This record gives sequence, C-alpha cells and structure tokens, in this order.
Amino acid sequence: MTPSGAEYIRQIKSQVDEVDPAQVSEHLGNGIVLVDVRESTEWDAGHIPGAKHVPRAYLESRIEGAVGADRDQEIVLYCASGQRSALAAHTLKDLLGYENVKSMTGGITLWKDRGYKVEVPKALSPEQRERYSRHLLIPEIGVEGQAKLLDSKVLLLGAGGLGSPTALYLAAAGVGTLGVVDDDEVDLSNLQRQVIHTTDRIGVAKVDSAEQAITAINPDVEVVKYKTRLDASNIMEIIEGYDVIVDGVDNFPTRYLLNDATVRLGIPVVSASILGFDGQLSVFKPHDGPCYRCLYPVPPPAELAPSCGANGVLGVLPGTMGLLQATEVVKLVTGAGEPLVGRLLLYEALGATFTELKVRRDPECPICSKDPSQISDEEMGVFPDYEAFCAAAG
Ligand SMILES: [Zn+2]
Repeated sequence: MTPSGAEYIRQIKSQVDEVDPAQVSEHLGNGIVLVDVRESTEWDAGHIPGAKHVPRAYLESRIEGAVGADRDQEIVLYCASGQRSALAAHTLKDLLGYENVKSMTGGITLWKDRGYKVEVPKALSPEQRERYSRHLLIPEIGVEGQAKLLDSKVLLLGAGGLGSPTALYLAAAGVGTLGVVDDDEVDLSNLQRQVIHTTDRIGVAKVDSAEQAITAINPDVEVVKYKTRLDASNIMEIIEGYDVIVDGVDNFPTRYLLNDATVRLGIPVVSASILGFDGQLSVFKPHDGPCYRCLYPVPPPAELAPSCGANGVLGVLPGTMGLLQATEVVKLVTGAGEPLVGRLLLYEALGATFTELKVRRDPECPICSKDPSQISDEEMGVFPDYEAFCAAAG
C-alpha cells in the first residue's frame, strides 16, 4: 500500500541520522558544513551564521558547489522544523552518495528557541532585487554577497585604460562606494581604450566624466572624486577606510608608495599593468601573501619603465585586464573563490596565452616583514628620484 505523506516522512526520518542543535552549535567550524535547505525568502528572514544556502529544489544541482565533491564530508542540513532537511539528507545519502549527512532536529525553530544566534541579511529593495537578480541566483553571491557589495568601498587609482572598464563593471555590480583618483582631463587620444569617457566629454575632468558614466549605470553607487595625484602628502588620508584598492597607476614611484601605505593600513590591492600586447595581474593582500616590494624589490631599469614616456598599447587589452581586476575585487568583497594572492597572472594577447607564476613573500622584505605600526613615514615610498630616473634612460 502507498504510504501517506506523513507516513512517508516518518519512514524517511527513521532512516536518517539526526543531530541536536546543541551538538551543531558546539561543532560548528570544526569542518562540518551546515546547509540550509529552505526557500530563499525563509533564508533571507534569518539563518544560522556560517551556513550555506542550497534550497531543496536545487539540491542535486548545487550541493557540490556548496559542500564540495568529497563524499566523506560531514554535512548537517537544516530547515524550519526538521522535515525537509530529513528528506534532503535522504536524497544526499541515497542518491548522491554522501556518507556523513545528518539532519538537525527541530530545524531553525528549535535552534532559535534554544537561544542560539541567527543572522539576518540586509534587506534589498524590490528594485535592487530586480537589478541584481542574476547575482542573487548564484549561491556564491546571493543576497548576502550583494549586501556586502553594496556596503563596500572600493578606490580606483586612475580613470584611464584599466580604471574605465573596472569602474563601469563595479558600478553595475553594485559596489556601494567608488572612489576615483585622477588629476587628468579627457583627451581625444584616450578614447581608443578609456571607455568610461566619451567624445563629447573631451576636456572634462576624468573624475567628473567617470562620475557621469557611473551614475548613469547605477544610482546605488556613491562616487567620491579626488581630482589630484596620489603622493606622500595625501595618500594616507585618501586611501584610509577603503576595503579594496584597484591599482591602475602607470608609474613605479606611486606603486611603491601605494604598496607601503596599504601594507601599513592592511588594505588589499588588486594590481594590473599593461604594455603593448602584454598584461600582468596580481592581488597584494597584506600579510596574507607577498607585497609589491616582495615581487619587485628594486624598480626595473629606467629604460624599461613604461611610465617614462608615451607607450603603445592595444586598445582592448586594458579592457581584458581591467575586468580581471574587477573580478578579483568582487571576490575579495564577497569572499567567493580564491583570490589571486601570491600568484602573478601574465596575459599575452598576440599568442592568446595565460601564464601563472607563484610569488612568495620575502621574509626580508623591507616593508611587509615589519609590524605595520613600525612602518615610518620616512620609509614609505622610498624610491630613486623619478625625474632623474627617467632622464638617465635618455
Ligand atoms: Zn613584502
């Protein structure tokens, strides 16, 4: 005889291992993956901190993305009362082969009754839900990741070749605050690659032109303009308070100065450079991986320094590199994936090749081997005199 729904659930529950909220609370963070199998609206109303969200309707297609492919991984599922999680646990075990799956007794209702902590993600407005709907559909971003993006402050150094695509896409992605540092005006020769600017804005300050483009894409974004050159006198004041810095500067002295200041303040830098058909990219996350000085303890010979004069560059190349930078920014802000820390990515456009080099922290590094509070103003940005440096190159 076909069992009733209630009878079927009873049967399944008798076959599934259950675990009490007290045990879950005690063992959280010890390698257990906690998965919430409720619907998105339930998740958004509050969930257990640290839990992953895989609605039961997407269990088969999304579970590997959330918990990994290891069938021995210890997994605890929960729902509102413990029924849907028991059914989901049965599916994971019987159909997908996960061996260590348990269902939490009483669900989040009992969890709350016992006084354990619940996290409520920041609510998005109906318009934001629609604007960012394609983000909300990816479990790695979701409402929580989008809320982090909206709360984030990202500083772009330069609204030029690299800064243009980065700014446009970060604005579209909903980064809440975009700072833009640039002291230049839009020039006709910029438009071959600096896609944030337009022909009718030639002569306009790049920070103003960038602001117009960003605001037109997404009114959620607040633009903070700095029409200045970054130097030792203003760097600490400008960069403090930003979560991530996007480095698109074209000269070595500023790169060293930026490195030293960000190591001191503990701000990650997503750095890219371009020349001709070649691009480089890395993420310098202070004390997590190498810094710029670990990678380049001394500046390159002056004749190879790209900033000593006008250089040619393929117009689409900064687009590619700038969007790789934007991708790393989104990963750093949301915590999704593996950022490019300790790795240098080289792109060669003519051959269409990507090469990855490992970069190690230098234990003798003059900057990042120190306690950040020990980095003095005098040491910051120490670099040979640049005018003389370029003049020596002839
Ligand atoms: Zn270093």
